[in-house]
Amino acid sequence: MLNAAIVGYGGMGKWHHNAIRAAVPGIEVISAYDLRPEAMEEARNNDLTVYGNAQELLADPNVSLVIIATPNDSHKDYIIGALKAGKHVVCEKPVVLSVRDLLEIMEVSKESDALFTIHQNRRWDKDFQIVKTILDEGTIGNPYFIESRVNGSSVFLHGWRDYQVNGGGMLYDWGVHLIDQALQLIPEKVTSVTAHIFNVYSKEVDDNVKILLRFESGLSMMLEVATNCFIPAPRWHVSGADGTVVIQNWNCDGKIVQLADREARKWDNDIVYTAAGPTRTMAPRPVNTTVEKELPNIRDARGNEYHRHSSADIFYHNLIAAIKGQTEPYVTAEQALRVIKIIELAFESGETGRGISCLV
Ligand code: NAD
Repeated sequence: MLNAAIVGYGGMGKWHHNAIRAAVPGIEVISAYDLRPEAMEEARNNDLTVYGNAQELLADPNVSLVIIATPNDSHKDYIIGALKAGKHVVCEKPVVLSVRDLLEIMEVSKESDALFTIHQNRRWDKDFQIVKTILDEGTIGNPYFIESRVNGSSVFLHGWRDYQVNGGGMLYDWGVHLIDQALQLIPEKVTSVTAHIFNVYSKEVDDNVKILLRFESGLSMMLEVATNCFIPAPRWHVSGADGTVVIQNWNCDGKIVQLADREARKWDNDIVYTAAGPTRTMAPRPVNTTVEKELPNIRDARGNEYHRHSSADIFYHNLIAAIKGQTEPYVTAEQALRVIKIIELAFESGETGRGISCLV
C-alpha cells in the first residue's frame, strides 16, 4: 500500500482523493495540507491527518507519495521539496510555468530515486481516444488538418486563474491538455507555432486562445480554448484525404463520413445552382458516393467501459507499476517539457504577431 498526502485540498485535490478512494486500491490518501483553514477542516472531516505547515508533510515518514494540486505558481517549490525528501511526486498540470523551471526540477529529479510524473490526464478522455483510434486505423486516409476545441462561455476566469502571478490564463489551463493531446496524437516534431491570444475580459491573462501547430509531415492542428463562445463548434473536426470525422462534445456524439470507394473520388459534378449562386466545386456531393459510419465503440486503456474514474484508474495503476520498477510512467518530465516549450512559443507568437519556427 502506498500512502499519499495531498498538497492543495481544493477542487482538484479533492478530485484526486475521491478518485483514488473509488478506483485505486493500491493507494491510500492519509493526509493533506492547504493554506486555507476551511480546506484543512474539510480534509479533517474526510478523515485525513492535517499538518501545521508543508514542512511537516514533507517530514512525515508515513507519506511516500505527494500529490500537488495547488495553483500553478506554487508547483515548483513543492516538487523540489518533495523529491529532496525522497517522496514520489504527482504534480498537477501545468507542471511549472517555464522551460527553465522544469529543467531545474529535472536536474533534482535525476539525483532522486523517487518517481516524478505529471497529471496530464486528458490523454485518456474518450473523445480523444476515439480520434486516436480512427487515425491509428487509417479510417479516413491521410489526415492533414485536425481541429480540437474546447468552447466554453463562462466569460470570467475563476479565482487564481484570472491572475498572472498564479500562472493563470487558458494556455496554462486547457491549453496544456490540448497541446499534450496533439503531441500524443501526432508522433512527429512540431515545426511551427502560431498563436492568437486574446484577453476579452481578463485584465491580466489570456482568456481565449487559438493555436496552429504545424508538424514535420505538413499535417497541421488548430487548437482553440474559448471562454467567450456562445455557439460552440464541435470538440473535434478531423480532415483526412478519404473522409471527415466530427465529434460534437464530451458525450462523443458524432460521425465519420468516408468516400464510398476510390472511384467515388470523381463524380459527375455539373454546375449546381445553389442559394448562393452557381458552383461546381462546392456543389453538394451525391449521397451514394459517401458512407456514413458511427464512431468506433472503444473501451478505456484498462479494457473497461469508460466510467467516471477511468482516467484515475489508468493513471494511478500505471504509477503503482512504475514505482515498483515494472514499467515507465505514462507521463514523463520530457513529455511535459515539450508542452511547456510550445506554450512559451505560443506566448512569443501571440506577442510578436508572427508564426515561430521550431523543432520541438
Ligand atoms: P482550487 O483553487 O480549487 O484549489 C487549490 C487549492 O490550493 C486551494 O484549496 C488553495 O487554498 C490551496 N493553495 C493555494 N496556494 C497554496 C499553497 N501555496 N500551498 C498549499 N495550498 C495552497 O484550484 P484547482 O482547480 O484545484 O487547481 C489546482 C491545480 O490543479 C492547478 O494546477 C490546476 O491547473 C490543476 N487542475 C487540473 C485539472 C486536470 O484535469 N488535470 C483540472 C483542474 C485543475
